[in-house]
Order: sequence, then C-alpha cells, then structure tokens
Amino acid sequence: MSCPHRAVLIITREVQHTATSLARKRIELQCHMPGGHTGPHRDETLGETWQDRGEELTHLLRSEKDT
Ligand SMILES: [Zn+2]
Repeated sequence: MSCPHRAVLIITREVQHTATSLARKRIELQCHMPGGHTGPHRDETLGETWQDRGEELTHLLRSEKDT
C-alpha cells in the first residue's frame, strides 16, 4: 500500500510595490513512498518533498524567486 498523502504546491509571484502575491501556478503532488513511511513525503515524478502536517492534503506556498 502506498502513502495516501498528497500536496498542492502553489507558486506565487510578488507584485512590485505591493504586499500582494499572485498565485501563478498550481502543481498537484502525490507521495510515492510506501504507506507508514518515516520522514517527509516525496513525489518521485516531480522530485518534490514536503513535511507531514497531519493532513492528507497539504498546501505549500513557494515564491517564484526561490525556484
Ligand atoms: Zn508519504
């Protein structure tokens, strides 16, 4: 049985001279590790990892500058 955890990675872009961040891209991630694994969840296809926050669906925000 594989891990049921999923995440949505939202790439944001800051708008200059404002405090606003626009959601630019939305990427759905699925953990490919075996069920009950330890450590962070990992989507092998996209090479993304995320921490378990006790929810099956985790929302992640990332500023475009960091990528
Ligand atoms: Zn997992």
